[in-house]
Amino acid sequence: ALSLSGIQKYYDDHHVLKSVDFSVKPGEVVVLIGPSGSGKSTLLRCCNGLEIAQEGDITIFGQPLVAGGKLIEDRELNRLREDVGMVFQSFNLFPHLSVLENVCVAPLTLKKATRPKAEKLAKELLAKVGLSDKIDAMPGNLSGGQKQRVAIARALAMTPSVLLFDEPTSALDPELVGEVLQVMKMLAKDGMTMIIVTHEMNFARDVADRVVMMDNGTILEEGTPEQIFKSPTHARTQEFLQTVF
Ligand code: ATP
Ligand code: MG
Repeated sequence: ALSLSGIQKYYDDHHVLKSVDFSVKPGEVVVLIGPSGSGKSTLLRCCNGLEIAQEGDITIFGQPLVAGGKLIEDRELNRLREDVGMVFQSFNLFPHLSVLENVCVAPLTLKKATRPKAEKLAKELLAKVGLSDKIDAMPGNLSGGQKQRVAIARALAMTPSVLLFDEPTSALDPELVGEVLQVMKMLAKDGMTMIIVTHEMNFARDVADRVVMMDNGTILEEGTPEQIFKSPTHARTQEFLQTVF
């Protein structure tokens, strides 16, 4: 569905992604793991154009969006961001808008959806994430787990082809982690294409089709959860897994 090749990303002279090739197939769930600073968030941000790498190509469903580190056309950046949704660790809800409005706002403004259509979709999505009773609530009155489920509904409202998650449960109290992972599991079952950075290894083992281990700006190894967790090829992977299991 989404394919990145030869991605080189620098922050000044700090080489953060070193010729990374990465792709995700339609319906595939990929979990990205690796030590802090290895480039997981940067790779995700390149997937939806929040960062543009200095070199490399990005295609969505075979259509080039970025070639040689340059956007094909400026408007392609909007397409990339609309087609590749993102859920952050810190929710990033609009605090002054109700739950329903948070989910409606992007379809209304970016997709020029009509209000009845946007509201209907938002209500369906909020029902899906178990928040039908919270549509009129303000974000400040929700628990972290509820906020994150609103953030997921909001991302889905743009009907993305791919959904990116950057440590979606890391800011949550332990007892709220499960409800968010449950929603993500449901999306995986529905066939949503997802790339997920997480330290929830039990979730990765249950849900991931593929686990990708990053280290120092490169993809060190990848494989099924079974391969990566039970018999990793690299000592670095083994070491890292010992710190998270
Ligand atoms: P973590 O597990 O801590 O979230 P990560 O694997 O997501 O780490 P990145 O956030 O992608 O790592 O960062 C990779 C490297 O790029 C790090 O060395 C980081 O300091 C650097 N970096 C990230 N964002 C910026 C930025 N905006 N400006 C300068 N350097 C950055
Ligand atoms: Mg990160």
